[in-house]
Amino acid sequence: MDNLPIFLDVKDKDCLVVGGGDIAARKASLLIKAGAAVTIVAPELAATAQSLIDNNQATWLNSLFEPNHADGRQLIMAATDIEAVNRHVYDEAKQRGILVNVADVPELCDFILGSILDRSPILVAISSGGDAPVLARNLRARLETLIPPSYSRLGHLAGKYRNAVKQKFKKLDLRRRFWEVVLQGDVAEHVYAGRDEQAEQLIQDLIAEDSPESLTRGEVYLVGAGPGDPDLLTFKALRLMQQADIVFYDRLVSKEVLALVRKEAEQVYVGKQRAWHAVRQEEINRLLLDHAKQGKRVLRLKGGDPFIFGRGGEEIETLAAENIHFQIVPGVTAASGCATYAGIPLTHRDYSQSCVFVTGQLKQGELDLNWSALVQPNQTVVVYMGLAGLPELTKQMLAHGMPADKPAALVQQGTTQNQKVWTSTIAELPALAEKEQPIAPTLIIIGEVVGLQDQLAWFNNQLDSNGSFS
Ligand code: SAH
Repeated sequence: MDNLPIFLDVKDKDCLVVGGGDIAARKASLLIKAGAAVTIVAPELAATAQSLIDNNQATWLNSLFEPNHADGRQLIMAATDIEAVNRHVYDEAKQRGILVNVADVPELCDFILGSILDRSPILVAISSGGDAPVLARNLRARLETLIPPSYSRLGHLAGKYRNAVKQKFKKLDLRRRFWEVVLQGDVAEHVYAGRDEQAEQLIQDLIAEDSPESLTRGEVYLVGAGPGDPDLLTFKALRLMQQADIVFYDRLVSKEVLALVRKEAEQVYVGKQRAWHAVRQEEINRLLLDHAKQGKRVLRLKGGDPFIFGRGGEEIETLAAENIHFQIVPGVTAASGCATYAGIPLTHRDYSQSCVFVTGQLKQGELDLNWSALVQPNQTVVVYMGLAGLPELTKQMLAHGMPADKPAALVQQGTTQNQKVWTSTIAELPALAEKEQPIAPTLIIIGEVVGLQDQLAWFNNQLDSNGSFS
């Protein structure tokens, strides 16, 4: 860190602004906003500075800067257009041990003002240490859209009840839980919608309740973690990941995604591999149930989308039967993630008007699929879990009339830094897999659209030959 960000209390403190131009007026306005008693010293004032004086927001010393003007100030800002004056102000401030800032001269600054987002009492100040002010401003603009102005009222409301909540909930855990429920639930929703009275009533009710049910109630979040790239998570997934007490995750969840789960949450691997289940499905169902019953917020994190070959339905059935609260968050499924990152559009006006997702998992060495439905023209077929059964899959498709030269692709570990894409024809796919030995998870895509991959591949183009980002 080049600087230490601090939030300085200048309320009712004497602060001096040297200069009467627009920049000086802007600095003075900030100080005024933070409650400082501001004196402006300048022989003349621009309209912006004059209006601060006219509105009794600041005091004007109609004079050139003199050393005694610095006496007794908490903070001084110089913004004149005369270098020698700015330097003089700096020297006088330093002699007196007063914090000083000279506009646009980093060497003459004890502190710099960040790019400020004001949602008082919430304040965000961003600094690039002067290296990239535009980047800092861009970031602020993004936060501007992310943090609605109503955060301000929510912050005030929280401040108002802070002590009462501290009194009521002595345990830190419970207090944190209380604020999460308040700040992420109905209370916050009321505030965002401008219904402040209802929000306040609800907070009071929650504090008054003996043991607020919503604070001690366990809940399960069944969350789709997407195919690997953490940027493909949804906002909702991330929010729930950040408030979980325990997470059960499987093999398909990438390290990068797992790293975004709340640090304090216990992590339990319940991965499944073909023919070998680390933890049996019934046991997973039972684990989710037991932990929710203990009042925990249980995160069940699954690769891709939980409702697409994810057995999400089964896990939820048990919870529903036991009246456990749950939320389900969809994720980017492998078909969508892999196809997009490989540059294969799943549908295309000229080549493919439909797309089917099938499982290629063998049962007793066989595949029980509706073959005639799969070999239709103008259709893309995406096969999940199809690597082991690929020879059988290909054999059946060809036997049911699929043209031998139908384009087909293997996408290994799609959307991750290990993504690899191989294309060929359906007839040659098993030999290709035999030769290349793709690593799981791998997805199979069959259809004319695979022919577009040459032109549309984009993701791997950004990887160098070591597979890392260039
Ligand atoms: N619920 C998951 C699918 C689980 S089935 C989803 O919606 O994506 C597991 C199969 O998904 C794997 O055998 C593989 O075929 C496919 N798969 C999942 N993630 C993948 C990835 N990143 N790259 C390639 N295939 C993937």
